[in-house]
Amino acid sequence: MRAMADPRQRVPGTDRVLAEPAVAAAVQRLGRRLVKEAVHAAQERARAGEISPADVTAEALAALPKSASSIRRVLNATGVLLHTNLGRAPLSAAAVQAVQEAAGTTNVELDLHTGRRGPRGAAAISALLDSVPRAEAAHVVNNGAAVLALAATALAQDREIVLARGEMVEIGAGFRIPDLLTATGARLREIGTTNRVRLDDYRAALGPDTGFVLKVHPSNFVISGFTADVPVAALRDLDVPVVVDIGSGLLHPHPVLPREPDATTALRDGADLVIASGDKLLGGPQAGLLLGRADLVQQLRQHPLARALRVDKLTLAALEATLRGPSTLTDNALRQDPAQLLRRAELLAEALTAAGVPACSQLSDATVGGGGAPGVTLPSAAVALPERFAKPLREGKPPVIARLDQGWCLLDLAAVPAECDDELRRAVLAAS
Ligand SMILES: *Cc1c(COP(=O)(O)O)cnc(C)c1O
Repeated sequence: MRAMADPRQRVPGTDRVLAEPAVAAAVQRLGRRLVKEAVHAAQERARAGEISPADVTAEALAALPKSASSIRRVLNATGVLLHTNLGRAPLSAAAVQAVQEAAGTTNVELDLHTGRRGPRGAAAISALLDSVPRAEAAHVVNNGAAVLALAATALAQDREIVLARGEMVEIGAGFRIPDLLTATGARLREIGTTNRVRLDDYRAALGPDTGFVLKVHPSNFVISGFTADVPVAALRDLDVPVVVDIGSGLLHPHPVLPREPDATTALRDGADLVIASGDKLLGGPQAGLLLGRADLVQQLRQHPLARALRVDKLTLAALEATLRGPSTLTDNALRQDPAQLLRRAELLAEALTAAGVPACSQLSDATVGGGGAPGVTLPSAAVALPERFAKPLREGKPPVIARLDQGWCLLDLAAVPAECDDELRRAVLAAS
């Protein structure tokens, strides 16, 4: 009788569980190690008496991750369109499809017509040049910081980069653009004060040691009050290259964000090079874009460091599809009708209330995020829940990331595609 009382005696062995058809299929999909871990965890629970030994297989299957990577799709209900912690821009369906196609063996460096080696990334670069006809040439590297490092190395090593003090930006997570620039061996020539810089400051700083003048868009903060800065157009007559880091990756002026800099305008105003990220307002994959004068782009492209910063085939595929494909999710989110967002929030709140969840709809302010347009709020709408919902929502399937605000757990809909509303409703029910 003792054996009956001790559940350990009846816990099925690992090999037996692994041989179950559903578990064997999971091994095919996820690999043996992950599945074995889940089986062991379920066996432990059975031995501890937390679950019945008969449920070990079901428990192990339920605990299995969806994919062999631990990066999970989450619903972004923060109201921050480009949330750095959530991977910034979500890729469009067209870009996802392109990534999937590129994931196997590809023609990334083979010209299928001639059978010879082809230039890597040519299609993405031609898509970029078609999108920004003002640029004579373009190049793509790993991210915006990589373009800055490449420009500083190729154009200003042992020389000076002239930069206004009000544009000495910390990008995030402790990374500072001035430190990045000097790490390459370039020297910084700081000009002006935190709040003001004049054309004469630039003129006075130029000399035989000047590599280039850098303008950096303060993309994550605003200085207001007694301020002055020098627009790109005023720098065009200086005798040195003017490099403009616009940050966000807008290629043209955007109607919703009239004050956000864009590549076409910067080039028209006289920038010799424009630097931008691919995964901010451009709405594409992480990438660093370089656009501008052909001789300078060539100089950077041919620098030995360029090889260390080159982008992967997945990025090239996603970038080309982002540029050539339908409008991006980021752009769609920017152009939403606030009345429609409110309607969605009302419907969600009604459905939740009917199911016994204390929820109500309200107006909300969304933001673009660290990726651009600091200080700009986008009219949005949210479902308000008690704060205690935040943690179970974050740990749900799929995880939902809410915004905490004065004791409330807000589900801002600005960055939630409308087709995910039902999934969001089910996630809240599961968390209640
Ligand atoms: C975001 C940003 C960067 C860094 O770009 P990453 O793609 O994140 O490396 C550089 N400069 C500005 C102005 C930015 O906003």
